[in-house]
Amino acid sequence: MKRLALVQTGGTIASRTDSSGDLIPADAVQDLLRALPSLEQFEVAVFQPFNLPSPHITPQHMLELRDLIHSLKNNFDGIVVTHGTDTLEETAFFLHLTLETSLPVVLTGSMRHAEEASWDGPGNVLAAAHVALEPRSKDRGVLVVFGGDIFDARTVTKSDTTRLEAFAGYPGPIGRIDFLAGNAEIAYFARPEPRASRTLERVTAEVEILYAYAGWRGQGLLESLSRADGVVIAALGTGNVPPDVAPIVAEAKKPVVIATRTHTGAILPIYGYAGGGRQLRQLGAIPASFLNAHKARMLLLVLLSAGATRTELETAFMGLEAQP
Ligand code: ASP
Repeated sequence: MKRLALVQTGGTIASRTDSSGDLIPADAVQDLLRALPSLEQFEVAVFQPFNLPSPHITPQHMLELRDLIHSLKNNFDGIVVTHGTDTLEETAFFLHLTLETSLPVVLTGSMRHAEEASWDGPGNVLAAAHVALEPRSKDRGVLVVFGGDIFDARTVTKSDTTRLEAFAGYPGPIGRIDFLAGNAEIAYFARPEPRASRTLERVTAEVEILYAYAGWRGQGLLESLSRADGVVIAALGTGNVPPDVAPIVAEAKKPVVIATRTHTGAILPIYGYAGGGRQLRQLGAIPASFLNAHKARMLLLVLLSAGATRTELETAFMGLEAQP
């Protein structure tokens, strides 16, 4: 029998309504297991390091989860982590960067809770379990399974606030799971690529995100640069900012990473005007490649916590195209 670790961390999938009808954290794992008799084909062990709505999850919780997975990795064939969907992509990417194992680790959650007719928790957990126990899922880094789509941690993002298919990847999912007469049919669309995982003892760095907009004069940026160890700017288009922001970037003594507020696409040093991506690059800002701002924050936070030098930061962000 294949051995599955089901690690529950909270979110809608583990929530129930209270007497006033508000959705609050509950211990819904029994609901989940009751709704999934077909999980009995596996030996399932349940772990619950914490039970939090995902807006309450911090990088310290992610580290705790990483340590728990490290302690489980030799005793299981696959690991499923249930998680609130709001910050699921951040936890997935943090684990992707810091887990030292080839064991499949799959995150999932639900958009509806256990008392709703369209509860998607059981279906997502069943699909995630099959993906986690599939030998072809090894060495792909951390995966996210939602609505039958399989995403990679680097590009997966929550793309809708309420739809059941709430996640998207870039350029799309990397695989798909469907069920035919009760049997899981798993297709991957690409071969796994090597993953560079980083040894991380503690999360010590603080990284803040600022969001660029038309007419932004850099409000908040100086404060962030004095408070935090690094800053990510969700910049405009291919990585440009309004002109008044450029001198602040030029003076920054801390790393400034440029991502984009546009939903997909690369950061490219095209424009040489004041605040253009080329100028920002010349001023020392680091382009985030295809990472969205909150993934770029995770990478910067992990690298700075691991004591990376400026050159190592540049290499890690610039080398992203070569990584899965
Ligand atoms: N707000 C919830 C959370 O992220 C949504 C969910 O679980 O899907 O915990």
